[in-house]
Amino acid sequence: MPKKYNKCSFCGRSENEVKVLVSGVNGFICDDCIQQAYNIVNEALGSGAAKSSSHRPSGLRWEKLPRPEAIKNHLDQYVIGQEDAKRYLSVAVYNHYKRLLQPVTDDGVEIEKSNIIMVGPTGTGKTLLARTIARLLEVPFTIVDATVFTEAGYVGEDVESILSRLLQVADFDVDATQRGIVFIDEIDKIARKTDNPSITRDVSGEGVQQGLLKLLEGTTVNVPPKGGRKHPDQEYVQVDTRNILFICGGAFDGIERKIAQRLNTHVVGYNSVQNVARIDRQNLMKYIQPQDLKSFGLIPEIIGRLPVLTYLDALDRPALRRILTEPRNSIIRQQEKLFAMDGIRLTFDEDALEYIVDKAVEFKLGARGLRSIVESIMIKPQFELPTSGLREFNVTRDYAREQVEKSTLAAA
Ligand code: ADP
Repeated sequence: MPKKYNKCSFCGRSENEVKVLVSGVNGFICDDCIQQAYNIVNEALGSGAAKSSSHRPSGLRWEKLPRPEAIKNHLDQYVIGQEDAKRYLSVAVYNHYKRLLQPVTDDGVEIEKSNIIMVGPTGTGKTLLARTIARLLEVPFTIVDATVFTEAGYVGEDVESILSRLLQVADFDVDATQRGIVFIDEIDKIARKTDNPSITRDVSGEGVQQGLLKLLEGTTVNVPPKGGRKHPDQEYVQVDTRNILFICGGAFDGIERKIAQRLNTHVVGYNSVQNVARIDRQNLMKYIQPQDLKSFGLIPEIIGRLPVLTYLDALDRPALRRILTEPRNSIIRQQEKLFAMDGIRLTFDEDALEYIVDKAVEFKLGARGLRSIVESIMIKPQFELPTSGLREFNVTRDYAREQVEKSTLAAA
């Protein structure tokens, strides 16, 4: 019986007539047809797009990319206030993805990466902003704390460990890792201690900044997939950081003083007398400029690699009150959902909510404190109500106060 040859499902030639025949689930395709199909795809997408397809991360599509306004609208649902930071972030993230999708043309214009730095007191939404954006874009996202980094040789982690974590959240998909977002928290803690000429080495100072600089600039790093030094025999994975978006955040305590100094020295000339009058002394943070980060101790090279600089406002009373109920997954909504699962309708009096805000302000806990205060109020009903047969529960101001005063918070 003659040998039965497989045939290309597109042109019908059999496997002995072609160089390569690739098999699929229900058919085959030969090398010629692959080539032709490739050309058709190129034409359909435009020649520029086709040329760049090797750089084009799979899964990202221009039409699907949310525009800055859509990104900002999304952030508005989760993050209260912080208008400037939201705008800067929306544009920077949009540009970042444009950059990943940019066609390779010969006009010599290449969109450069714009990593971001956000300056603002702790608990004002820096991490929340980064996390919310990452969720919207469905890219791997990780948060690292800059304080864990030390120069090689010291106890602690190397900056490369950032990439191990990103690789892990990307399920070891290197492609996805290479277009992920890394949030580096507490970047101010690796500032050079300029006014501290200590003879002991500045462990978390300039050396760490230099290590970080390489990652920000774009480099290929051998990453131990399991991270750390505990698994010495693991095989390294190469990760290119060129397209990873780095978002840094830090409180930069005391930076207002540097800003004020700069503004004061600038306003000496009579030229700027008018500007002085307009300076909002209560909110100096909004005048932040890269040179203030330098006076704080970040090396100029790092600052240069974080071209998008934005700030977050301290949260005032009205902002804290809004944070309690307005975000889509606000603390109060989460509580309501917990109780709804037991078939109980949970409500809060307005003055109970005001009381929670007062306590957060009093304990100087900011937005982070709201959650612990609500938890301390709700622990008793959470314990008792599921078996009480009640269908409704209303939290009054008196009830809230009673619970807080009984709790460990009051003792603090
Ligand atoms: P940061 O990174 O600035 O120190 P986070 O983003 O971690 O602060 O904020 C801590 C928590 O406080 C968040 O999980 C969130 O619940 C709440 N929070 C802080 N700022 C805001 C805000 N502007 N809008 C809504 N919630 C906020």
